[in-house]
Amino acid sequence: MDAVKDPAIVRLDKRVALFKRRGCGTERAGELAELLLLRDADRDDRRMCIECAHLQTTGGCFAARQGWIHGAAPYLTPVKDMLQRCECFEWQKP
Ligand code: SF4
Repeated sequence: MDAVKDPAIVRLDKRVALFKRRGCGTERAGELAELLLLRDADRDDRRMCIECAHLQTTGGCFAARQGWIHGAAPYLTPVKDMLQRCECFEWQKP
């Protein structure tokens, strides 16, 4: 019989995989995923660009390129691992 995994652990594993795909080493990906687990537990509504669907492989922001972020330069290269609030954030689906 399969054990049912805690949803928080499933989310953590998916985040680690996403962050590794987005250039983090294994250790850093794990650190960020644990930090976001605490964020979720605190019901903190800030997000990181590394979680966002608009972050491009070049490190740029698609939403900024399109002019969707008020006041942002079109060639914005956001800090990926800083908690913040962004009007254009969208969850990256795993
Ligand atoms: S839309 Fe906002 S949260 Fe998403 S990558 Fe761009 S700056 Fe970051």
